[in-house]
Amino acid sequence: MVLRERIADHVYVFRSGLYAHVNAGLVATDEGCVVIDTLPYPQETQEIVEFVTKRLRSHVRYLVLTHCHADHVYGAYLFQGAEIVGHRLSRDLMIRQTRPALIEARQRNAALAEVRLDLPTMLTEKQATLRLGEFTLVLDHSPGHSPDLITVYVKEEKVLFASDAVMPVPYLVGGDISDFRRSLRAIMHLSPVEDVVQGHGDVLLRGEVNTVLQTQLDYLDCIEKTAQDIFASGGGKAELDASDIEDCGLRRTALNGYVQQLHRGNLYFLFGQARRQARQG
Ligand SMILES: [Zn+2]
Repeated sequence: MVLRERIADHVYVFRSGLYAHVNAGLVATDEGCVVIDTLPYPQETQEIVEFVTKRLRSHVRYLVLTHCHADHVYGAYLFQGAEIVGHRLSRDLMIRQTRPALIEARQRNAALAEVRLDLPTMLTEKQATLRLGEFTLVLDHSPGHSPDLITVYVKEEKVLFASDAVMPVPYLVGGDISDFRRSLRAIMHLSPVEDVVQGHGDVLLRGEVNTVLQTQLDYLDCIEKTAQDIFASGGGKAELDASDIEDCGLRRTALNGYVQQLHRGNLYFLFGQARRQARQG
């Protein structure tokens, strides 16, 4: 069951009850809707489609896919007639990585049997502006979590859909820690912002945004140091596994405890990088 939240007059958030509290967004304008990301399972994305057609009696003009990861894009095929917007790198990564992974996922998971991957056709680079009805959406390239990630700022409503550039634990496997820091700092300086919709989990309100973002920057410093220290002292798997996310200032209970798994993934990723750098001398 999807949790629907109205965060501004014309802006809604839909949160997955089935997978890792993923958020999709909706901006309802006079000339149709813009949807930001889909939910992973078709039955949940279908709830967004029905909300638009039955409750709002509207239609979807644009679907923005913020990055290539499965949990945000699997429902794109359900928005027939909408133009799909995404970063140029996203389209490439979806062809090379998301699509082959989907073929495997379909075999393991009957709920995904009908899913097919529709790709972005309207492609962005560094920044793009999308205007529809009375709203202006600014799409900014914000890599770090993944190389292709874009955030969506709804100017008139002062809402930022940050996608996985902001989530209860920064997750950088397949991404880049320096890019991540730059993107978080850019979001910190974005103004004015009333709400930040994270890629997963609760919506952040104005008063808490900068504290949360600073905690995330501190977390990145902490995991980088932890992985480097473990590598430098000759440690390995045992030491990496023993690291607790709370040692780096984040709560262990977020996303039903899934964050600890993401934390471990981050440490393995950074440890691997430290080892590669040492080999290259
Ligand atoms: Zn995600």
